[in-house]
Amino acid sequence: MRTWRRAELLRPALEALLAGTDAPARMRGDPVELPHRYQDPRDIEVASLLCAALAYGRVDLFKPRLRALLDALGPSPAAVAMTARPAELVDRAKGFSYRMTDARDVACLLHGAGTILRAHGSLGSCFTAHYRRLRSVRAALGAFVDELCAPDFTPITGQRGPTRRLKHLLPHPDRGSACKRLNLFLRWMVRGPDGVDFGLWREVPADALVVPLDTHVHRIGRFIGLTRRKDLSWKTAEDVTRRLRLLDAEDPVRYDFALSHLGISGTCASRKDLRRCANCPLKPICRYWV
Ligand code: SF4
Repeated sequence: MRTWRRAELLRPALEALLAGTDAPARMRGDPVELPHRYQDPRDIEVASLLCAALAYGRVDLFKPRLRALLDALGPSPAAVAMTARPAELVDRAKGFSYRMTDARDVACLLHGAGTILRAHGSLGSCFTAHYRRLRSVRAALGAFVDELCAPDFTPITGQRGPTRRLKHLLPHPDRGSACKRLNLFLRWMVRGPDGVDFGLWREVPADALVVPLDTHVHRIGRFIGLTRRKDLSWKTAEDVTRRLRLLDAEDPVRYDFALSHLGISGTCASRKDLRRCANCPLKPICRYWV
């Protein structure tokens, strides 16, 4: 097992950040709050897939749209995905519009999820089967994305494949993307349960997860020495995760929620700022201060 001397400095600082993060309050500014309204694991899976895939841009802009979309899907988004005809899926999603995403993209995502639910029984069974076979989160995620995009989408798009924008919502790890939103979905499904993440997919080990590398985690990760890489790529996500694994081999992405919300909340100044950095638990390891 590799050791990393800096780990002994980082671990207490990150533990202090975690302990000082008010998770229930932060969840109000996070899409993960929405799937917590469901009890049935399949509803949690489908709601989580929608909420993670559509979580781009500003949370205060996309979250109200996600809430309205889930309201339009009724008490069981999984039942809708499994039983509704494609035209009905478009109808259910018709009020949804957010930047470049519209009702047809959402209908394609639901159609792909519904096809998996009918074939495997749950999204987790599908992903887990791929993981068991391929023994790699990256490879299993690629196979999962392929399966979501595999059904005949003609009734929705007028062509065999899904909308072009679905590729944006579901980037393939083979193309080098950090796949932040898909890794976020995996974090929700695999880690925990801890009140934030759901811990539904028991056969996928938390130690195999890759950090959902958003701009905040990347930027703060560079401040504290988790990576030197400058691009938001899968390689950088793996680089950050490799260092996090040296802090916690069994649960490397446990600091992700706290790190990302240090940025989302605007608490991190992203520069040396006497007032805003004063109470930051990462100050002893932040490059602006050491
Ligand atoms: S010390 Fe300041 S710049 Fe560094 S991580 Fe904390 S808030 Fe951000």
